[in-house]
Amino acid sequence: MQLSHSGEKIVIASHNEGKVEEIRVLLSFADLEVLSAKELNLPEPVEDGKTFIANAEIKAKACAEKSGLLSLADDSGLVVPALDGAPGIYSARWAGPQKDFFSAMKLVEDKLQPGDNRHAYFVCALSLARPDGTCYTYEGEVHGQLVWPPRGDLGFGYDPIFEPEGYNQTFSEINPELKHKISHRAAAFRLLTGAHFS
Ligand code: IMP
Repeated sequence: MQLSHSGEKIVIASHNEGKVEEIRVLLSFADLEVLSAKELNLPEPVEDGKTFIANAEIKAKACAEKSGLLSLADDSGLVVPALDGAPGIYSARWAGPQKDFFSAMKLVEDKLQPGDNRHAYFVCALSLARPDGTCYTYEGEVHGQLVWPPRGDLGFGYDPIFEPEGYNQTFSEINPELKHKISHRAAAFRLLTGAHFS
């Protein structure tokens, strides 16, 4: 499925403003009209998959079916091997209905024991779906270290406690343009654009 220069509408299947904004920037090179599930008042489907890929596909397919338009979903989260992969696919849920990410970051820190390995990585599964059910999914990762206390006020979610490998700033401190080049979302986007925008 080639999408270059199509002028087609694409719906970002997310109600998370931070994520929609990052995807908008990542898609800005393409000739697509970008809409979001929130602005179209589309319901959020139940994310009951057991993997990032399964949840991205649930969201993209539901959005494409409801909107009748090409849809793109991102399912992502922070994986901490020392916590057996938590918060993982539950990353958004750790912040509760208030979306309190300071509490979610504090929970990660409190669960880590002194001496635990502080390696962590973000995963992003991106799923592109058509209303007919056709779906293509790609996954990217970025590895780094957890820091405490949180630092910086850019980005969203767990960005203030994540220092990507090779940098001594957190994702909340580094220039957003750089985050857009090295993030898990950027890695998944490179695979998606290579496959559909060549
Ligand atoms: P989802 O909407 O179910 O995919 O939730 C993903 C959650 O993972 C977000 O709410 C954030 O907490 C976290 N997350 C995903 N990507 C990032 C990122 O780039 N920076 C910080 N947190 C992220």
